[in-house]
Amino acid sequence: MGASFDSRAESSSTHATVCSQCTAIVRLSGRLMIGEVLDCSACGAPLEVARVDPPRLVPFARIEEEPEDFAGFELL
Ligand SMILES: [Zn+2]
Repeated sequence: MGASFDSRAESSSTHATVCSQCTAIVRLSGRLMIGEVLDCSACGAPLEVARVDPPRLVPFARIEEEPEDFAGFELL
């Protein structure tokens, strides 16, 4: 016992969750933010943080709304 009870309060420094694409264990370090996008170290799929506590990852789909963007890129 003592006055330093707050040393164990910060237990959210590392997390581990499962990649929704390949079901590999993905380790998350530091503070998580909802909407943060990271890559799975196993399959390389982009994953978006949908939940923080408990951590949950969902597949991140960036190019879903504007397929015309690809046509413009081809003109270059
Ligand atoms: Zn994966």
